[in-house]
Amino acid sequence: MASECAPLVKTGGLADVIGSLPKALAKTGVRVRVLLPEYPDISNLTGSREPALRFENLFGGPAAIHAIHVHDMNLLVLSAPHLYRREGNIYLGPDGQDWPDNHTRFAALSYAGAEIAQSGIAGWKPDIVNLHDWQTGLLPAYLAQSATSVPPTIMTIHNIAYQGLFDSGQLANLQLRSEIFTASGAEFYGKIGFLKAGIAFADTVTTVSPRYAKELLNPEFGMGLDGLLRARQDDLVGIVNGIDLDTWNPETDPHLVANYSVRALKGRQLNKQAIIARFGLRPGTGPLFAVVSRLTQQKGLDLLLDCIPALVAQDARLALLGSGDADLENGFARASRRYPDSVGVMIGYDEPLSHLLQGGCDAVIVPSRFEPCGLTQLYGLRYGTLPVVAQTGGLADTVIDANEAALAANCATGFQFAPVTADALNQTLVRVCKLYQNRQIWARMIRRAMRHPVGWDQSATAYHKIYSDLISRS
Ligand code: ADP
Repeated sequence: MASECAPLVKTGGLADVIGSLPKALAKTGVRVRVLLPEYPDISNLTGSREPALRFENLFGGPAAIHAIHVHDMNLLVLSAPHLYRREGNIYLGPDGQDWPDNHTRFAALSYAGAEIAQSGIAGWKPDIVNLHDWQTGLLPAYLAQSATSVPPTIMTIHNIAYQGLFDSGQLANLQLRSEIFTASGAEFYGKIGFLKAGIAFADTVTTVSPRYAKELLNPEFGMGLDGLLRARQDDLVGIVNGIDLDTWNPETDPHLVANYSVRALKGRQLNKQAIIARFGLRPGTGPLFAVVSRLTQQKGLDLLLDCIPALVAQDARLALLGSGDADLENGFARASRRYPDSVGVMIGYDEPLSHLLQGGCDAVIVPSRFEPCGLTQLYGLRYGTLPVVAQTGGLADTVIDANEAALAANCATGFQFAPVTADALNQTLVRVCKLYQNRQIWARMIRRAMRHPVGWDQSATAYHKIYSDLISRS
């Protein structure tokens, strides 16, 4: 269960995972159905077919679930026009603020999921329910309130910074009983915590990299849930995300100007020229850096702003695609006005352009203050755009820094910096620029990065094992 799923509806990495993990699980013998809300973009897929389950009144209006097969996925789509038929961002209203009824919208998703978990749908009942992020966190709380036998649940945390905290006055409206609203249950400092409920009541908790699983136990990263997670430490597992190797394949990617492979890298040059032209940059002797990111405090891009003069001094260029906080959008817009030939900025969300940047830039910068897994650096590896990452979470787990030892051992795939400060990033960017001048070492690193396994195989097997263990335990 999740609130987004690529390619149907995406605001971030969660969608990529929900769109690709089920296919990988299928290869290990797990049959998956994905429960999603029916946003406007999805409603044209369900058409007028008969629903598999109806709710006369699901938190304020009629609702139904349709079982459909699209993009090689079996979906269960929760149609509830009073909750999901809204244009624009799936979480935000036209004023840029959260929809005022997000608590109802996502409690309804959990409530419908709990119904399916208990009673099944169209002759099918799940053996396991895997929940993703706060939008689905209430499901185990609803199951805890039920007297029937229920399947085991797994709460997967993709980002603990988003917890779904709502006014406790909503408890009755959300059909939650007061027994679950305790410090060891759904209560978080007087509010209803959707993610907290998920962590407290699920049978197992996973997150999206081993290092983030450790970090979450500390107050610095646990964001108030570290105590609960320490109490559940034995049930907490970190499994690194994979990527969809078909969608993200430089040999076939339709969004590239030229396709290429690890044996024939020439196409990268044409993609690079296309990026340089599109962003209005000049050709230079230094590397072309990419950023593809939400522009938020988490992503640490304010640190990069401080490094721009040094980048320009190294004859490097930067192509940034992103959107988010106004001060960061304005900061990068200013930088591109100040250095128009060196810094190109596109504010917005553009899936095809994100592929082209990975297919033609020399390095991709991910300076996150915290990063549960991160996908951009995995796409960078797959496309030979060497990742420059902060040493945190999944970034630290997936990129091997080009220090002297790693270069000598032929295993470096990118660059890490720590602590996560502008100074450390600056020094690392200078280090990248220097290494870039050694064309032989750089070319070798590109090939090594492209061969680095970033698919789902290993991780899908790890999920499969958790599912099997839970089923045999229950
Ligand atoms: P998060 O989920 O925290 O945003 P991830 O690195 O896990 O970070 O995933 C981000 C995903 O969103 C990647 O697929 C990335 O390519 C994509 N993305 C982020 N910003 C943009 C953008 N402005 N345009 C296109 N794709 C973007």
